[in-house]
Amino acid sequence: MNSLSDRYDAVRARIAEAAQQGKRSATDVRLLAVSKGQPADALGALATLGQRDFAESYVQEALAKQVMLAEAGWLAPPLIWHFIGPIQSNKTRAIATHFSWVHSVDRAKIAQRLNDHRPDDLPPLKILIEVNMDREGTKAGVDPDAVADLAAFCRTLPRLQLMGLMTIPAPGSTGAFARLAALNVQLNPVLPELSMGMSDDFEAAIMAGSTQVRIGSAVFGARRMTPNRATFNG
Ligand SMILES: *Cc1c(COP(=O)(O)O)cnc(C)c1O
Repeated sequence: MNSLSDRYDAVRARIAEAAQQGKRSATDVRLLAVSKGQPADALGALATLGQRDFAESYVQEALAKQVMLAEAGWLAPPLIWHFIGPIQSNKTRAIATHFSWVHSVDRAKIAQRLNDHRPDDLPPLKILIEVNMDREGTKAGVDPDAVADLAAFCRTLPRLQLMGLMTIPAPGSTGAFARLAALNVQLNPVLPELSMGMSDDFEAAIMAGSTQVRIGSAVFGARRMTPNRATFNG
């Protein structure tokens, strides 16, 4: 059985290999460890191996682990927390307060609330717009045709810093990565970050220009807890 450090090394090697094939530098691709469903001690073990960026999908679950890791001494050097899950209006204050990055902004109302709730003593919240590239009916994300307008609106909000675009393609739709990159090129100005690629498809995403891959099971193994869905509806 592979240890955490073996899996972590293997994923980083595959990222470097894909970057090289895509004629890019491995340092241009940030690895986000998707830690939903993982206990705090697994995050601490990965932090000990040098990982700094962690991504969570459920607010309550994330905040509980942030407290546990802070108590375990992970404040200096600090961990960098990314929120990647669906955002309900009543969670914007917690998200704006406890995360550095939010990848799942898909409507103006949520952007406005994140802006309004970002504490003054923190730098602007870095955000990405989630795009429903395959126009799946049930999926989160803005329609590709609406990205430019939402980006323009986000740029008017002083407590947000618009960094890029994010997508979760339909199963098997690896062409969505190149289409997201093409959509970005049409924006004015072009955004620096593309958050795309998960355990099963990150190499294709890197070849298409991903700058942030969100990888859970390939690093941690299978999720060990049921991610906290209760916080969605509450
Ligand atoms: C869970 C999740 C991931 C990671 O999925 P794996 O298949 O475990 O790598 C990436 N992005 C989002 C938005 C997720 O919810």
